Amino acid sequence: MGDRTGFMKHDRAVPERRPVPVRLRDWREVYKPFGIEAVRTQASRCMDCGIPFCNSGCPLGNLIPDWNDLVYRDHWRDAIERLHATNNFPEFTGRLCPAPCEAACVLGINEDPVTIKQVEVEIIDRAWEEDWVRPIPAAEHTGHSVAVVGSGPAGLAAAQQLTRAGHEVVCFERDDRLGGLLRYGIPEFKMEKRFLDRRLDQMSAEGTRFVTGTDVGVDISAGALVEQFDAVVLAGGATAWRDLPIPGRDLQGIHQAMEFLPPSNRVIEGDLLNHPFPATGKDGSHGSGRSRHGAAPALRLGAAGRDHAPPPRRARRQHSLAHLAADDAHVLGARGGR
Ligand SMILES: Cc1cc2nc3c(=O)[nH]c(=O)nc-3n(C[C@H](O)[C@H](O)[C@H](O)COP(=O)(O)OP(=O)(O)OC[C@H]3O[C@@H](n4cnc5c(N)ncnc54)[C@H](O)[C@@H]3O)c2cc1C
Ligand code: SF4
Repeated sequence: MGDRTGFMKHDRAVPERRPVPVRLRDWREVYKPFGIEAVRTQASRCMDCGIPFCNSGCPLGNLIPDWNDLVYRDHWRDAIERLHATNNFPEFTGRLCPAPCEAACVLGINEDPVTIKQVEVEIIDRAWEEDWVRPIPAAEHTGHSVAVVGSGPAGLAAAQQLTRAGHEVVCFERDDRLGGLLRYGIPEFKMEKRFLDRRLDQMSAEGTRFVTGTDVGVDISAGALVEQFDAVVLAGGATAWRDLPIPGRDLQGIHQAMEFLPPSNRVIEGDLLNHPFPATGKDGSHGSGRSRHGAAPALRLGAAGRDHAPPPRRARRQHSLAHLAADDAHVLGARGGR
């Protein structure tokens, strides 16, 4: 429950962002470190509301009040165990999730909600720093084999659970690197790829095998997979984008986020020297939602910014939208110095 009166004593706080002019010169993550005591204070705002809607608001069913309490009481090792009980990759969700838990937080009815997402990422970051996150190889092997198609977060989570259950798991990925949209969709400054690579190392050490550059259905048939493995998990994501058939869509220089972001990530990886859609000197403009992620790489690649999304607002009824907008705005730095 945290501190019984914590929510009356402390306001919601989130980490500060690095200054925009500095952020625009690198690809590192946006936020400054928050500090252990600040995290404990935020966790103490969780108020033992009795019916924690955050728990059902979280698509993973994260046991949020439990780990808020453990962090407040400085029991970080227990906190990561509670967090890992429902979430294979808190370092991904703690950075990327739009946090519907916070929109569901009971304290948010008349105050700012608990800073759940930040507490989540602080727990797992500390766990990695303390070397508490180790490979968990299966105690015994079942003799069964499973093919997982796709190495995005869905495929990785399935592969990790199945490997730990003792099955022989091979994860097939058509791309040259693992991670799906975590690798080529999400910009580096929203989640640095080293966090993904660290998890992949853990998974390899547990026994999951990865095969890249293999397009299932092209390089290996579905029938062959079914024959070679006892079970097949399809976790191919949705690479196809939804088009926006409006006047001007076909003009030169109008790109889908997923046309722009993978090459941006490849520039950072060193695969490409130059971006195929050079932005220098151009007016970088974007809509709302996830496509806004395309704007920040464009700014870092030299575009001028123009924000077409509504400004974030604080009222609770706007919280979900505001959170998303604020979360996305943080990468932009084009307006208001967020
Ligand atoms: C631009 C953008 C920004 C986003 N930002 C966020 C965010 O900030 N926060 C958030 O929560 N969500 C965000 N999302 C959504 C999130 O990335 C997806 O919900 C998530 O990646 C889906 O995971 P997945 O594993 O199902 O699929 P994916 O991540 O798409 O992974 C599927 C993988 O399967 C592989 N594959 C497909 N078919 C085959 C085949 N036949 N053979 C072998 N491999 C195959 C693909 O190459 C891919 O690597 C964003 C999405 C986009 C497009
Ligand atoms: S940030 Fe997302 S994953 Fe984390 S507790 Fe909230 S809803 Fe669940």
